[in-house]
Amino acid sequence: MQTTIAAISTPAAAGGIGIIKISGPEAAEIADKVFKSAGGSTLSSLPGYSVRFGKIYDGNTPLDQAVAVRYKAPKSYTGEDVVELQCHGGLFLMQQILRLVLESGAKPAEAGEFTKRAFLNGKIDLTEAESVMSLISAHGKQAADAAYNALSGALSKEIKEISEIFISASAHMAAWVDYPDEDIKELDFSNLLIQFKGAKERLISLISKFDAGQAITEGVETAIVGKPNVGKSTLMNLLLQKDRSIVTEIAGTTRDIVEETARIGNVVLRLSDTAGIRSSEDIVESIGIEYAKTKLLHSSLVLVVIDGSSPLSNEDLEILKACADKAAIAIINKEDKGLFIDPEDITKYIKNYVVISATDTACYETLKDTIEDMLGTANFDSSAAMLQNERQLDCCKRALVCIDEAISAIELGLTMDAVNVSVDAAIEPLIELTGEKVSEAVVNEVFKEFCVGK
Ligand code: GDP
Repeated sequence: MQTTIAAISTPAAAGGIGIIKISGPEAAEIADKVFKSAGGSTLSSLPGYSVRFGKIYDGNTPLDQAVAVRYKAPKSYTGEDVVELQCHGGLFLMQQILRLVLESGAKPAEAGEFTKRAFLNGKIDLTEAESVMSLISAHGKQAADAAYNALSGALSKEIKEISEIFISASAHMAAWVDYPDEDIKELDFSNLLIQFKGAKERLISLISKFDAGQAITEGVETAIVGKPNVGKSTLMNLLLQKDRSIVTEIAGTTRDIVEETARIGNVVLRLSDTAGIRSSEDIVESIGIEYAKTKLLHSSLVLVVIDGSSPLSNEDLEILKACADKAAIAIINKEDKGLFIDPEDITKYIKNYVVISATDTACYETLKDTIEDMLGTANFDSSAAMLQNERQLDCCKRALVCIDEAISAIELGLTMDAVNVSVDAAIEPLIELTGEKVSEAVVNEVFKEFCVGK
């Protein structure tokens, strides 16, 4: 029999209200041991969607006034009987009440266990469960909109429509092969090819929007690199639209990494202004340089600042080379002092560049547009289906390989059996994506990321 679990569902901080959630077959009976309603009715005697005001008791001692909400299976978040005790949100008080609930027979919920139960009870599919996590951690309107759309089933719907094409093709082919004597209409391969190619396009579209979607929902680790005095700190201030880094005319003054968060349109950039990457005898600066190299490795976007008012130096070239295989934008700075470098010398290493004066706030818009173009986030439609994580991306990529094989098999005129093998192989990762067929290990991996109480 399924256990009854409980956890504090509100954040681990003092607040006006704190909620303890209990879910499982004994939810109401356990809640009745700690909560007495003002009118005297027990929660277990109430129908679903009932609310009662009352008190929480530790034995005969009242601890708090509370509101209890009673849900009855299957009409609850988890699909099980659920009671939510809404108490005053003192941290100590909440812990005390949770302890009472656990002593009354509930087990402590593991991270994500409420949502995991919702998935296992068929209330939501795996992509919807993952979107609950994204919704909780969303740090902007676009991110929250995207997560809400996934929770509302936008991605599931898209994937189900795609997988349906292959499921129905597979069923038809299997029937035709297995029952040759029956009067089953022969498959129209040219029509099948059109459908498969359409499905392929839809998957490619999902995959190609992944990076932009991640940038919007997760933010982007961004390193600002360049030799000393080229204007890195000034650029950082421009992006932040305030004064933060110390800007001086002595080369090498930004010795440490300064970290900040800037919102550029829909995207949050986590910026680090690093000491220039260059050989240095100075120990303090060397530490900064080593750190800058590590930062470079872990950044998804690199802004390489170059002083455009003097010719490209070997140091500039070294830095450009170090960034050649990264998503990078060259910021050719100090335009106001005249341009002494040819952008073509830079595009040999980094394709995207912009010419600005970081000291001129009017350049902000140009910079913003260049960054948004690079990330593909300018006209991002957060209401469309969107992949939310690497697991989902991997499923789509695996499906795509099999769809390509199925398409080639048809185009080469291979037997129906051969086509069917690839079609069946394409279905597997798609139903794994939505969680219709997924291993326990994958499910555990997904819910490991959740917080307790959700
Ligand atoms: P960092 O060492 O790369 O961080 O460089 P800073 O941001 O400290 O800038 C070094 C010097 O260049 C400062 O005096 C800035 O005011 C100046 N500077 C930065 N950007 C510009 C610019 O666009 N035009 C001009 N004329 N000076 C700039």
